[in-house]
Amino acid sequence: MGRVYNFSAGPAVLPEEVLQEAAAEMMDYKGSGMSVMEMSHRSKWFDDIIKEAEQDLRDLMNIPDNYKVLFLQGGASQQFSAIPMNLMKNGVADFIVTGQWAKKAYEEAQKYGKAVKIASSEDKTFSYIPDCSDLPIDEDADYVYICENNTIYGTKFKTLPNTKGKTLVADVSSCFLSEPHDVEKYGIIYGGVQKNVGPAGVVISIIREDLITDDVLPGTPTMLKFKTQADKDSLYNTPPCYGIYICGKVFKWLKKQGGLAAMKEYNEKKAKLLYDFLDESKMFTGTVAKEDRSLMNVPFVTGDKDLDAKFVKEATAAGFVNLKGHRTVGGMRASIYNAMPIEGVEKLVEFMRKFEEENA
Ligand SMILES: *Cc1c(COP(=O)(O)O)cnc(C)c1O
Repeated sequence: MGRVYNFSAGPAVLPEEVLQEAAAEMMDYKGSGMSVMEMSHRSKWFDDIIKEAEQDLRDLMNIPDNYKVLFLQGGASQQFSAIPMNLMKNGVADFIVTGQWAKKAYEEAQKYGKAVKIASSEDKTFSYIPDCSDLPIDEDADYVYICENNTIYGTKFKTLPNTKGKTLVADVSSCFLSEPHDVEKYGIIYGGVQKNVGPAGVVISIIREDLITDDVLPGTPTMLKFKTQADKDSLYNTPPCYGIYICGKVFKWLKKQGGLAAMKEYNEKKAKLLYDFLDESKMFTGTVAKEDRSLMNVPFVTGDKDLDAKFVKEATAAGFVNLKGHRTVGGMRASIYNAMPIEGVEKLVEFMRKFEEENA
């Protein structure tokens, strides 16, 4: 059975090497006589797995010592509640709303305090990133929140907003480890791993230590208090063991590829192939402002719904799967995360070119 080119936005493609290694270790992990799925999270084996995963992530991202790395559950969506519960000491947070995920985080935070929308790109279906150089940041804002790469719309912040000294919190789910991040610029940088890092079920949250306190909103569940998780090194309760194990393998794979600077170069090369074609094509067009284009999620349309559907159908039959765009944008979306090989993008472009000729 052959593998397809999987352009899913998430859960998404993983490195084949990683899947093969996991398969080889499935029945007997390093002489333990059991699978990682079957072992205690308090065992020596798992202790090594989680510690090594954390260290490899620290190496990859150059995470400073005054940041904690937490491996959590509940998806990125649970952080939409956990973050205000832990951080809203003054009861105010500012949101830059550049897509559905930022909007959901903004709406969730309204339950816990005053969430203020200080900028938005909803007027043009989130097809651009607003100018964030001089926003009306609230004097007593506990933090400024962004979704750095907008998975659905295909835009990305190329420069971080000027938060005027306030703590920046960023959801990087769909650009996690796709390029270097300067961790020091964030109070919290977090993401669900199922887009670019591993299997669904793990959220990695990298949090500056001064933001991890007992001073949380009344009623904050024990499990959602960052301090609970930080004090126990993500082992307060049973963590998503198997997912963390796979993430650890992906970290090692990324190191082998040369780290995040090398990944950035590779991802730029891949994205350029597709964007250059979209710019020259008479049939397909990209849907977002060029200067804000994501390296990871590339939405495009033909301008004709029936033709879009025909394209998706024929592409699927040819082994290019999960290209249908999000229902709010329509058309197509190619997610070209770290593990999508450049051949996948080259062949997709070749297929699009041929489709354009045949349907001109
Ligand atoms: C997918 C996604 C989410 C939601 O993730 P869950 O783990 O399903 O909660 C949040 N933010 C971004 C940017 C995403 O791409």
